[in-house]
Amino acid sequence: MNMAEMDKLAAAGLRGEVRLREPMARHTSWRAGGSAERALLPADLDDLALTLRVLAPHEPVLVVGLGSNLLVRDGGFAGAVVFTHHSLIGIEVEAEVGATHGMLSFRAGAGVPAPHLARFVAKHGGAGAEWMAGVPGTVGGALAMNAGCYGGETWNHVVAVETVDRAGMLRHRAPSDYEIGYRHVALKARTDEWFVSAVFGFQPGEERASMERIKELLQKRVASQPLNQPNAGSVFRNPPGDHAARLIESCGLKGYAVGGAQVSRKHANFIVNEGDASARDIESVLRHVHATVRDRTGVDLVAEVRIVGDAA
Ligand SMILES: Cc1cc2nc3c(=O)[nH]c(=O)nc-3n(C[C@H](O)[C@H](O)[C@H](O)COP(=O)(O)OP(=O)(O)OC[C@H]3O[C@@H](n4cnc5c(N)ncnc54)[C@H](O)[C@@H]3O)c2cc1C
Repeated sequence: MNMAEMDKLAAAGLRGEVRLREPMARHTSWRAGGSAERALLPADLDDLALTLRVLAPHEPVLVVGLGSNLLVRDGGFAGAVVFTHHSLIGIEVEAEVGATHGMLSFRAGAGVPAPHLARFVAKHGGAGAEWMAGVPGTVGGALAMNAGCYGGETWNHVVAVETVDRAGMLRHRAPSDYEIGYRHVALKARTDEWFVSAVFGFQPGEERASMERIKELLQKRVASQPLNQPNAGSVFRNPPGDHAARLIESCGLKGYAVGGAQVSRKHANFIVNEGDASARDIESVLRHVHATVRDRTGVDLVAEVRIVGDAA
């Protein structure tokens, strides 16, 4: 973005913050990678819509939540990274029991952390969101990825979403507007739209039981995942009927390292940053794991993490 474009944003009345060459290592759970040419932190939803409207039409846009499923290559992202976690953070009970076929419904902004939604639902008597407590991303990221674990999946609970497009136009959409699968969500209309909020439905439950379940699931994670080192959760999707971690471990890849990136010894489907990993180190480990598993087992693992940007 040159000065003229910065001036255009200011003149349009943008109230949020604009940062140039923002290191994305600060905004990704891998704590590695290059910079965003510009980072935009809109003040609220209107400001987000305005930001998108004012950006030059050719400018690549990447909407980012908490960066917990994201690798930005070391050469950085040549475009605008728009953060949601700092403004789209409203959360409320949408309707009482009975209003939606006996379900409790909740509206959450795309920037709300999923663990916050899990606890909010539990505290307000909803059951079924407990698994979200261990997914360290935003509601927007969970919608984009169809995040899930321990039998729960984001889109099993979506009643409706609100999106914004490149022209800053807001739309209400139904789940039937999307193709939804395991860690896969695509708008059938194939237009560029981002999630700004969603309404979720949950069965009525009991707060204490839900809080206990949250505790239990978090303990399971601590026991099985390398949460004390920067990582991005599962790197590969599980292939049908099998587990990526089992396949990777069966190829003897636990501990395989390039530079500061290593296949976790605790959980083979995690790549951890030992402290000074570059995005290139991480991607090299990922590629090596993919090629080794394919050559030895015939299974073509598909990456779950999103990789963007240019090589250094
Ligand atoms: C320790 C750990 C454990 C994890 N466990 C799980 C797990 O159990 N299950 C699971 O599914 N995932 C898991 N993950 C991965 C990750 O937390 C999820 O994919 C999460 O939903 C990503 O949310 P985010 O806000 O961090 O997304 P980001 O990493 O910021 O973005 C991921 C993708 O979503 C897009 N996106 C983000 N916000 C929006 C939006 N508002 N509109 C449209 N697109 C958007 C981005 O452009 C990008 O393509 C784990 C990660 C870690 C680090």
